[in-house]
Amino acid sequence: MKKISLLGATGSIGLQTLDVIREHPDEFSLHAMAFGKNMDRAIPIIKEFGPKRVVTQDEATKKIVKAEFQDIEVIAGKEGLEEISVDADTDLVLNAVMGSVGLQATLKAIESEKQVAIANKETLVTAGHLVMEKAAKHNVNLLPVDSEHSAIYQCLNGENQTQINNLILTASGGSFRDYTRAELAEVTVEDALNHPNWSMGAKITIDSATMMNKGLEVIEAHWLFGVPYDQIKVIQHKESVIHSMVEFMDNSVIAQLGTPDMKVPIQYALTYPSRLELPMSKRLDLVEIGKLHFQQMDMGRFPTLKMAFDAGKEGGTMTTVLNAANETAVELFLQRKISFLAIEDMIKKALNEHVSIKKPDLETILEVDQDTRRQVLSYLD
Ligand code: NDP
Ligand code: MG
Repeated sequence: MKKISLLGATGSIGLQTLDVIREHPDEFSLHAMAFGKNMDRAIPIIKEFGPKRVVTQDEATKKIVKAEFQDIEVIAGKEGLEEISVDADTDLVLNAVMGSVGLQATLKAIESEKQVAIANKETLVTAGHLVMEKAAKHNVNLLPVDSEHSAIYQCLNGENQTQINNLILTASGGSFRDYTRAELAEVTVEDALNHPNWSMGAKITIDSATMMNKGLEVIEAHWLFGVPYDQIKVIQHKESVIHSMVEFMDNSVIAQLGTPDMKVPIQYALTYPSRLELPMSKRLDLVEIGKLHFQQMDMGRFPTLKMAFDAGKEGGTMTTVLNAANETAVELFLQRKISFLAIEDMIKKALNEHVSIKKPDLETILEVDQDTRRQVLSYLD
């Protein structure tokens, strides 16, 4: 029985993780969970899975949970995220909170040598070098949940990392893959939230529409697999059937395929290095699909992807700025305070104004993260 601490239990990844736990009650249990403020979702989860410890984003939400469940330990705030990541009874921490708020919890989980499954890609974009250094020091194998990275992880099973030619990430193209730049200028929040292949949280759905999601994933792949940026390629593949590929030095390419269903990579992170059945997931029928399409990524139409490659190559705090500026600008767009294309303008401005600090420590990262958020908000005036 694997005891799980689930950070972000009320989110899209969180709920699908609970589907997997529910499917295999003899294999997994929800030992602890963290969520933000969504009580409507949290209450039934606590009732059904009976976690021993619950973390809320703030004191007000903690009070409501405490009133409802007297016997459960409830902790509020970021300290709570860290506490359930080092819990002595926890075997595996799955980090599925949204945003760089997940960073310290990831670092703590690694320090206490838990199994760590990462959906929270912002953690690796913000401070990939710190996370990977710590993982190496404590001999912790980070298990990717992101479908592209799970795919690459599976393609690399039993392979020699030094024989990789290229990692090839696939991109669905998001909600606006067929729009011109002129059309993009007019899109609304509702349009952007309507992703053709995947049902996900609001922030990552917008990231998919701007293509920043793929940019973040390039940086995530760089850190997880230790591959230089010029050996990471992105191609558009609208069906989201090939989740990513690895090309080796002999030109052999290994790909991982499946229907677009996050429960598959989530479960793989929980069962690794083994596998379990997953009847609720639809099996891939290539004959029914018939054709798969591939297309070169157009960096002119998707400038965020180039920004991410450039920031990654620059290194240091440049990717911290990329992430914090993106999180802030996306939030402003979701609040309907800026237009869709203003997201990339704001990120570009923040990157241009920043001089990268090389090999930043945690304190510097947190400072740059906060400064960038303030700076991007100031662009509103
Ligand atoms: P959601 O927005 O659906 O969920 C985010 C979760 O984090 C919610 O449970 C939310 O709580 C919680 N949360 C946010 N802030 C805090 C906080 N300060 N303290 C505690 N909990 C907090 O996001 P997704 O599930 O879509 O994405 C989660 C992560 O996984 C992201 O990093 C995303 O990039 C990554 N990912 C997601 C995929 C997907 O298919 N959704 C695919 C690949 C990666 P509440 O809602 O209660 O406030
Ligand atoms: Mg992905």
